[in-house]
Amino acid sequence: HQKCLKQLVNEKAITKDQRSIELFGNVGSAEEALSIVEHGGFGVGLLRTELVYMNSKDWPTEDEQYKTYESIAKNVNGEVIIRTLDIGGDKTLPYFTFPKEENPFLGLRAIRFCLKNKDIFKTQLRAILRLSASYPVKIMFPMIGSLEELIEARKCLDEAKKSLKVDNQAYNEDIPVGIMIEIPSAVFAIDLLSDHVDFVSIGTNDLCQYTLAVDRLNPEVAYLYDAFNISIIRMIDHVVRGCKPKGVKVGICGEMASDVEAAKILVGLGVDELSVSPSMIPYVKEVIISSNYEDLKVHAQRIIKR
Ligand code: PEP
Ligand code: MG
Repeated sequence: HQKCLKQLVNEKAITKDQRSIELFGNVGSAEEALSIVEHGGFGVGLLRTELVYMNSKDWPTEDEQYKTYESIAKNVNGEVIIRTLDIGGDKTLPYFTFPKEENPFLGLRAIRFCLKNKDIFKTQLRAILRLSASYPVKIMFPMIGSLEELIEARKCLDEAKKSLKVDNQAYNEDIPVGIMIEIPSAVFAIDLLSDHVDFVSIGTNDLCQYTLAVDRLNPEVAYLYDAFNISIIRMIDHVVRGCKPKGVKVGICGEMASDVEAAKILVGLGVDELSVSPSMIPYVKEVIISSNYEDLKVHAQRIIKR
């Protein structure tokens, strides 16, 4: 079986009836990016940039970030979706004192932190933009909860672009911009949000936590943490339906996509891209190749209607 999976490395992830799925990997380092290619993936669907910050002794400079992101982009042959800093929640930094919070997962995390610390945010945006001059880079904002937040984040991106222009630095003016859908409020504002993005990626890890009111790290309630919960499946369906008419592509980058049974449902819901743990790429690819999209659609709708 291992040998069979190896033979899939150069195969595309296309169903028997020709529905093509982008199969990407989730990474935090250049080594992991290489592992995507070794496992037959075609790009980075989620670069968790907080790891770059957590492995640093102080705020990483624009140049340091550029170098790290480039080392990752160099190691894959496809696009790289760079998620802006998702710090806070359970993730802290040795060189920064976070406010003391009763509920850090409901607090100053991800885009909320960046919009409060715009210098830090813009330094990162400049590094990502500079990389977009020579690599197929996309930018993704985590934990967007409202249209206002998205508009404010886009404004920061515009300002970062302007400052690069002043400095005579090259970047891709049309860099695709996406958001993570991982807060229930974003799911039900998808009709509004989708007017302002090129793509979305559903973060089922947090979407489960926030929808089911289950701390994703708390073993006491782990039995309630279930990505197959009917509410989660229906939310994903709602997001796809909100995005399809506008030509906005929908990906999944939560752990759920790495589960082959879940992958079938997700493809059946009409998702365009799955970003999974690199080592799981061959397994997810195999299930896509051996399935019929039309059958998966029926399967998914049956689960939704129940
Ligand atoms: C998610 O929430 O599903 C996700 C991919 O982001 P992270 O696990 O880094 O919070
Ligand atoms: Mg998340």
